Amino acid sequence: MEGDWDLLQCRFVRCPYCGERIELVVDCSVSDQRYVEDCQVCCRPMVLEVTVDEVGHVNVHANDENAC
Ligand SMILES: [Zn+2]
Repeated sequence: MEGDWDLLQCRFVRCPYCGERIELVVDCSVSDQRYVEDCQVCCRPMVLEVTVDEVGHVNVHANDENAC
């Protein structure tokens, strides 16, 4: 099967505040993204940085809002 699943991928990140693993759906059609999403566990705002490299590997980093 090909199609939208290539663009929407699930990734886990670790919340910088509470340390819980959070599942995210990442839109891989944009290769460089930075946005804020509230942690599903502690509800604090994580700054997410999504990068897609040239072979299509998706990297997601969650940062403490205050660290930026
Ligand atoms: Zn959290």
